[in-house]
Amino acid sequence: MSRVLVIGCGGVAGVAIQKCCQVSEVFTELCIASRTKEKCDALAQKLAGKTQTVITTAQVDADDVDQVIALIREYRPELVMNIALPYQDLTIMDACLACGVNYMDTANYEPEDTEDPAWRAIYEKRCKEAGFSAYFDYSWQWAYKKKFEEAGLTALLGSGFDPGVTQAYCAYAAKHEFDTIDTIDILDCNGGDHGYAFATNFNPEINLREVSAPGSYWENGHWVEIPAMSIKREYDFDQVGQKDMYLLHHEEIESLAKNIPGVKRIRFFMTFGQSYLDHMRCLEDVGMLSTTPIVFQGQEIVPIQFLKALLPDPASLGPRTKGKTNIGCIFTGTKDGKPKTYYIYNVCDHQECYKEVESQAISYTTGVPAMCGALMLLTGKWNKPGVYTVEEFDPDPYLEALDKYGLPRRENRSPELVD
Ligand code: NDP
Repeated sequence: MSRVLVIGCGGVAGVAIQKCCQVSEVFTELCIASRTKEKCDALAQKLAGKTQTVITTAQVDADDVDQVIALIREYRPELVMNIALPYQDLTIMDACLACGVNYMDTANYEPEDTEDPAWRAIYEKRCKEAGFSAYFDYSWQWAYKKKFEEAGLTALLGSGFDPGVTQAYCAYAAKHEFDTIDTIDILDCNGGDHGYAFATNFNPEINLREVSAPGSYWENGHWVEIPAMSIKREYDFDQVGQKDMYLLHHEEIESLAKNIPGVKRIRFFMTFGQSYLDHMRCLEDVGMLSTTPIVFQGQEIVPIQFLKALLPDPASLGPRTKGKTNIGCIFTGTKDGKPKTYYIYNVCDHQECYKEVESQAISYTTGVPAMCGALMLLTGKWNKPGVYTVEEFDPDPYLEALDKYGLPRRENRSPELVD
């Protein structure tokens, strides 16, 4: 029924592609394209004979719009799933517009080179005006809204877990559980243990940039920014137990503040163990998290990229990681004139994920929603021209698909609140 081009073949894409192949009545043909074609070929080989989906592979450098256009023209997909890196979001969106194809991704745009003067001028203006200093924000992709509308195409932004499912949880709470939502706390807990002193669960460069940045939250119509890791809370997570969690800036806060009417406060917390934080602080102090190139023995290197080469490949953590993730949203607000609290979340087991798709739960909890987002677009459930985040669509069919394909929701109507 549908021909889909997937760009990227890392940890998340590997899961998304395997899940697409479990729904081969919709995903009849897939082209897996990435910078390193060998990885695409290896995955295609692994899936050979196990799915009805017809898989082909291709090499593409998605930083180059012309290469992506040429590939789309050759393969003629109905949808491009961008599961490469946030750096490629704009080039792939440009290529989709040039070829008249729908687009989706799992993370919002950020530039690879944060020293680029043209980007930096716009970034510094945004920091002052908007009040948060993360390198990533939605402005770059929201700027494509009119172009996608005029072309009659849909761009779905951020269909992973967070961003992604967390926004569907918010839309679901607004639709079914509340008349007014006052506060949203997004809690992302990884209770998994991979046995390494330090490793990241997804792309190290993107991950370390995110967690070493200042934290921020939305309160009473504006951003409040705080030093990195300076707000800490403890929370007792269902099936994981007591964990320390820290307030971070996170991309979905920006779109939720716009799309959930009347919300007074939105915060995002992520759990970290002491060993992770100690390593990160040390690496930051010695300059290893820097994205600014340095010259070392005559060769230019970017410290954080060199660090990535030293760290375990997130895809290799699968067999070693034991424990569970618990990610969801706690709401306070009112229903029928009475105060109400509500918690909706998913618990995912690292080893169960490994058994099913040979991946740890972080890639799984991102790859499954990527497939479900594509499913919504391909089956016509979420089609409207323009550029949208997940909470702007009907959450019901998406959450039903997540229930069915591996990330069932759980609910608690009297949750412990975060102070
Ligand atoms: P990986 O680093 O494992 O994989 C990235 C893939 O993209 C690799 O196959 C890489 O190719 C490919 N790639 C990189 N640059 C290019 C390029 N210029 N052209 C073509 N292909 C390219 O990352 P993850 O799988 O961990 O993450 C994928 C995405 O998912 C990221 O955007 C990340 O931010 C997002 N994410 C979202 C989450 C959510 O909940 N919403 C959670 C976790 C991740 P090569 O093999 O050559 O390096």
